[in-house]
Amino acid sequence: MRIDVVSIFPEYLAPLELSLIGKARQEGILDLHVHDLRTFTTDRHRTVDDTPYGGGAGMVMKPEPWAQALASIADERPEGAARPVLIVPSPAGERFTQALAYELAEQDHLAFACGRYEGIDERVLEWSREHFDVRPVSLGDYVLNGGEVAVLAMVEAIGRLLPGVVGNPESLVEESHSDGLLEYPVYTKPSVWREREVPAVLLSGNHGRISQWRRHEQFRRTAERRPDLLEAFDAGKLPRADRAELQELGYDVVDGRLRPRPAAGGDHGD
Ligand code: SAM
Repeated sequence: MRIDVVSIFPEYLAPLELSLIGKARQEGILDLHVHDLRTFTTDRHRTVDDTPYGGGAGMVMKPEPWAQALASIADERPEGAARPVLIVPSPAGERFTQALAYELAEQDHLAFACGRYEGIDERVLEWSREHFDVRPVSLGDYVLNGGEVAVLAMVEAIGRLLPGVVGNPESLVEESHSDGLLEYPVYTKPSVWREREVPAVLLSGNHGRISQWRRHEQFRRTAERRPDLLEAFDAGKLPRADRAELQELGYDVVDGRLRPRPAAGGDHGD
């Protein structure tokens, strides 16, 4: 996969030289290029921002350096290759999820446009649609100073899904969000640490019981920390054992969805 990142702080992307993503680059699994937006300016001060039309606080990124930078990336597309996907990190974008990471990991070419200040002149997104599939994407419902941190997170989440990046691909299957649930708790040696014991079932060697325990812990943890995920979970084909565990946690399956059972006694209005 090829990835291009455009930023006014290319040094911010240095962590992409480390760990599994750095190794994937060395091994040619990931062909990652970081571009300095300022090299696409034409004035002496290498200006990338200006005051907003309509007034208001902050500065807006000028369109022309972005068009130059993105055109240079689009021009490198090999003859006949599909249009690259341009991801524009933005708190006003669609939410970045594991499902989106899987979808983007299928692409041959991704480009990322790191905004700063109040963001990029909106016309850049419109113009870019001639050359890219454009996707404004948010890391979460909060505001960062720039797109670089979002790109670090997204490239890592996408990159680790590429074949050969994570040593044991099995470890991707059981992770949080891969099946709509959070992952079960994990433990390593020693079996007793500071008077705390590893759950006995994990030392039993009984793989059936271990899987059942892990599944139960996934439901328990998801109910406790992310009930929104449980309510979105497709429960239509859940085996009876899972349904029983969920009932214990206070959930019933209604029309293929999990619904929290109303508290016994209810509210009688007195
Ligand atoms: N004025 C913008 C708004 O309210 O939507 C926020 C601009 S923010 C200070 C500057 C840049 O940080 C954005 O252009 C975007 O690239 C990045 N950014 C901030 N929060 C983000 C988030 N939650 N997800 C992805 N990128 C974000």
